[in-house]
Amino acid sequence: MKTIYTLQAGEKLNKKQFLEYFEKKVRKTIRTNKLIGKREKILVACSGGKDSTTALYLLNKITKDNKNIKIEAIHNDPSIGTYSKINKNNIIKFCKQHNIPLHLTSFREEFGHSLCYIKDLLKEKEIRYKSCSICGVLRRYLLNKKAKELRATKLVTGHNMDDESQNIMMNIFQNHTEILPRLGPISGLKQTKGFIPRIKPLYFCTEEETKLYSKLNDFPVKYEKCPCRTDAYRKDIADMLDDFEKHHKATKSGIIQSFLKLLPTLKREEKGKVKRCKKCQEPSAGNICNTCKILDLIR
Ligand code: SF4
Repeated sequence: MKTIYTLQAGEKLNKKQFLEYFEKKVRKTIRTNKLIGKREKILVACSGGKDSTTALYLLNKITKDNKNIKIEAIHNDPSIGTYSKINKNNIIKFCKQHNIPLHLTSFREEFGHSLCYIKDLLKEKEIRYKSCSICGVLRRYLLNKKAKELRATKLVTGHNMDDESQNIMMNIFQNHTEILPRLGPISGLKQTKGFIPRIKPLYFCTEEETKLYSKLNDFPVKYEKCPCRTDAYRKDIADMLDDFEKHHKATKSGIIQSFLKLLPTLKREEKGKVKRCKKCQEPSAGNICNTCKILDLIR
């Protein structure tokens, strides 16, 4: 049978073997990191892209016979033109196909403006936030808020190994070491009231593997990158790591494995440092959370 993927150790996999390999890796990530408890309401944050659609598909498949685990999806629309419209339609189609309840929310509905408009408003005030910074801060806030409203016990994101190795390096390069304890297969701050723990079942799957899995399953997904990503610091880090990986195999996995060894110490040191935002009462690293800071600037 035709080889469609070659493992780093050189083993060649056909389609059936690759699908089994990928699913086995996700099951192992869930099991060894205790991502799912005995009774859960799991909300999967779905952008409509390959990663979150794959995470939703697999969680639904893995838990389908367990009556104590409920899987639902949530889509936040940042209103980035045609790109967002296609993603939204795709996730609606996917959830219908698989009979998964889907909750829809948007920046316009929650904050009164689209992401692009918020960026322009800030620019007029000569505050130059990058699109991804605004999008990330507002989306995290919104997902945590909605997850609480829906009484979810876990929030799933589609972060893969490439995303996570970028996150680690970005925070180190920018000296944002206080963010590091919130990364890992279970991120967020489990002990902090008000934070719904976030789980990442694709943590050990690479971008390439996830894309292949999504394509082989013919998920209704658009594979182009977000048009606003061009101005992101993340893109430079991603390009650097891709280039490094090309010449030095297993670089990304090395970053992840080293980070996981440090994580227990980082979490211990961080315990008790989280405050509440004085304005919205949501958990925050400072007195005022980043969401309130952005919303104050655009009012
Ligand atoms: S690439 Fe950046 S702007 Fe686009 S959806 Fe992702 S975080 Fe938002």
